[in-house]
Formats: sequence, structure tokens, C-alpha cells
Amino acid sequence: QDDQFKKVISHAKEYGYVFQSSEIYDGLSAVYDYAQNGAELKKNIRDYWWRAMVQMNENIVGIDAAIFMHPTTWKASGHVDAFNDPLIDNKDSKKRYRADVLIEDYCAKIEAKIDKEVAKAAKRFGDAFNKEEFVSTNKRVLGYQEKINTTLSRMAQSLENEDLADVKALIEELEIADPLTGSKNWTDVKQFNLMFGTKLGASAENAMDLYLRPETAQGIFVNFLNVQKTSRLKIPFGIAQTGKAFRNEIVARQFIFRMREFEQMEMQFFIKPGTQQEWYEHWKETRLKWHLSLGMGEDNYRFHDHEKLAHYADAAADIEFKFPFGFKELEGIHSRTDFDLSQHEKYSGKKLQYFDPEENKSYVPYVLETSIGLDRMFLAVFSNSLQEEELENGTTRTVLKLPSVLAPVKAAVLPLVKKDGLPEIARQIVEDLKWDFNVIYDEKDAVGRRYRRQDANGTPFCITVDHDTLEDNSVTIRHRDTMEQERVKIDDLRDIIKKEVDV
Ligand code: ATP
Repeated sequence: QDDQFKKVISHAKEYGYVFQSSEIYDGLSAVYDYAQNGAELKKNIRDYWWRAMVQMNENIVGIDAAIFMHPTTWKASGHVDAFNDPLIDNKDSKKRYRADVLIEDYCAKIEAKIDKEVAKAAKRFGDAFNKEEFVSTNKRVLGYQEKINTTLSRMAQSLENEDLADVKALIEELEIADPLTGSKNWTDVKQFNLMFGTKLGASAENAMDLYLRPETAQGIFVNFLNVQKTSRLKIPFGIAQTGKAFRNEIVARQFIFRMREFEQMEMQFFIKPGTQQEWYEHWKETRLKWHLSLGMGEDNYRFHDHEKLAHYADAAADIEFKFPFGFKELEGIHSRTDFDLSQHEKYSGKKLQYFDPEENKSYVPYVLETSIGLDRMFLAVFSNSLQEEELENGTTRTVLKLPSVLAPVKAAVLPLVKKDGLPEIARQIVEDLKWDFNVIYDEKDAVGRRYRRQDANGTPFCITVDHDTLEDNSVTIRHRDTMEQERVKIDDLRDIIKKEVDV
């Protein structure tokens, strides 16, 4: 698992997808830059989302709100008071951790023990092994499970009651040690706000304290009525947007999975109060379908329904994806009630109500939200696509099987040799295709090596110009995933590529 994840990170760097930010200054933790291929992949994911959410839905429009918002926004949304993580410091190592993550990691270790017991038993019993039965009857496994359950429920309870002393007590009782040094010498647990602060204005006295937005959703809520009136959309309707969000994450490991500066793709769907259950189910299903449409394997997704709900929600689920480090949240679907709009009414003193012509009355709409991290989606796509294949001749190839619609470069055009007029024909093909697709020209190294380079780069097609091309205007087109080669007419290239890379 760890190995696979390391390969993902180094491949992302080697092939120009993701670099550490400010690398020449040794980087900035949990901040990353997208390189030449990464920026294309990210753009293609964003477009794929925008198309499905905005272009394909008559009743959803897109906006692009500013990152800076009036500071009262974050009072109203609850972020100033409640967007906190519980932190604990180790007195010896001086390292800071999220208390809840320390406890969750402890439980994950117990979970690993359960897996070990299961694996041992599976070996012992062979074909006769029934995992469910074993897990529900084996004393040791039941004991482990009980420990996990009581630990997590006590933690949830303490956090909910803001009983931070009990969170610390739990860490001490479980004898959780600093993962780096093994020290068990902890400070008290403190709440830490995740928003980044900044200042607007030149002089110190007049400067206004601002926050970098920690989510894009509020830009949609404060614009709700403006958009509704100018678009004349009727409920139910949605407003979508993509854009940067900022969180001062403390546990910021895991590459682009958890970043301090990241991009969200969010959609707020405004509905009649009382219809939220139906729309919640609708959007859960619709969003899962969107994921499955990329063909990355049904088994790699699962829903996680939240039992403990945030202050604004009356139902919430995550779509989890199987990352190299296990199933983790990729997208959230939240039934947010009228919490946000009512809060903004209260703090702004402005009415944020919708006049329903059918009901002949005004009300504050309810909201269903779908919220996905673009960077997290990037990691899901990239890590799932990176594969090592054993070939028939005993060699291995590294291939990045990106869904073709998302691939940064759709085709590489390769002259077999650098002479006899072949480069000129290849260049002409690039000139013709570049109006429709991102294509590149590559003449360096033997053609086999160029194929491998494009495989590792995720390019779905290689088009090779050889001496026969001079005779009959045909080229070889090679498919990345199957490595199959076909002879086709130059004039047909556009349609062949289009068929595979278009949605
Ligand atoms: P987590 O529990 O992983 O911290 P969250 O529940 O706080 O996430 P939301 O506030 O629901 O996340 O944000 C919606 C989506 O934004 C998440 O599903 C995730 O894909 C993405 N996201 C949130 N925080 C980050 C981050 N620090 N880096 C990258 N993506 C993020």
C-alpha cells in the first residue's frame, strides 16, 4: 500500500503532473503545484464536472464568486465559532497533532489486528472459511471491535460536548504515544480554527480582518437571490461553482489528498422545504453515476452515511474512494436545510426568500449540496490509473490508464525516423489535429521507447508515420491500453480519436 502510494507520488513528479510548491526552497508543507500535464488533467476533470452539472442541466447555472468575502459571512456560516480542530502538543517532541486523528489512528491499528486474525483464520480453514461468521463469533476479534466502538463513540461524545479534558483523558488511558518519538507526555487539548486570516486595507488602523474562504459554498449562498432573479429560475434549481478554498490543516500528510490550498467543485441545489429526503437520494445516486461513468471500477466506491451530523445538516453522506491508503472521503452530499440562508438573513438583515408562484407564498428554500475536492478527484483518477503490467515477453511496462476524456495529451504523433520527409508529414498531422485535441509531436529515441514514454504519460493514442505513409496516406494508430495497432487513413484520424475522447 505504502509502496504503491510512493510510486504514485514519484510518477506524478517524474511525468510533470504534480510538483511540491517552492521546491527550490525545500517546499511548503501541504502545498503543491500542478505541472504541465497536471494542469491539463485538472482542467479536464473540472470541465467534465462542469459539463455534467451545468451544461447538461437546464436548471443549474454556474458562477465564479470571489475568494475574499465580507467577514460577517463567516460569522453567519458558523466558521468563526465552529470550524475548529482539536489539537494536542507533545511536550517532549514539541510536535502538534490533531487529537481526533491520534485516536482514529489508534483504532486503525486495532482494525489492522482484526485483518491479521482474519487472514490467519482464512489460511487455516481454507475453502471452508466464512469471514462474516468468523468475525461475528471469534472472541478476540469481538474484543477488538468492542474496543474500537467504545473508543470512537466516547471521542465523538466528548467532541460534541466540547469536553476537551475528556479527549485528553482518553488519549492518556489508551496510552497513545507520539508516533515519531514514542513520548506520552501530552499537553491539554485546544480548539484551533482552520481559517487563514489576512488583512484588507493599507494602514494598520483601518485594516479589516478578512479570511481566505474555507469553502466555496458561501459565495453561492450570498448570491442566491441575485442569481435567482437574474436567471428567473424556479425552484428546484442549482448554482454551481469551482474555485480555491483554504484551510490551515494540521494533519496535512497524504500528498494532494489534504492540502492547505485546494480547489472545490460545489453545487447548491435550492428546493422546497419538505422535499429534502427525495433530493438527497436523487443527488447521491446522480453523483455516484457521474463517478462510475469514468469507468474506474464500481468496487472502488462506497457510500458512508454520517451518523453524527454537522450543525447545519439533517442528512449527510460521503462517496468514498479506494485510495492507495484505503477508502477515504472523495465527495460529500449534504442536506443543509435552510441553515445557511436563514443565517445570512439574520446577519445581513436582508430577506433571502423565494416567492413560489405555485404555492403563492414566500419561503427560505432548503439546500442540497454536492461538494467534491478537485485535487482529491485528481488523486483518485491518477492513483487508480497508474499500473504496472507484465508483458508476454517477460518485461514490464508502466502505464497510466487515465480515462481518455481526462488525459492531458490525447495523441502523440511520431515519425518513425527523422528523415525521408516523415517529420514533415507528422508535423502536418499535429497542425491539423491541434484544433480539436491536445496533441504533441515526438521524434526523440526509438519508436518503442517513445511508445513507453507515452504509456507512462497517459496518452491514449500514438500515431506513427512510416515509409508506407508516403505511398498511401495511412498511418499506424496504437491504443495505449491494449497496445493494439491498426492501419488507418490520415483523414480518419480525427473521427477515431473523437470517438474515444469525447464524452
Ligand atoms: P475531511 O473530513 O477529509 O477533512 P471535510 O469533511 O472537511 O473533509 P468538506 O468540508 O465536506 O470536507 O469539503 C468537501 C470536499 O472538499 C471533500 O469531500 C474533499 O474532497 C475536499 N476537501 C476538503 N478539505 C480538503 C483539503 N484540505 N485538501 C483537499 N481537498 C479537501
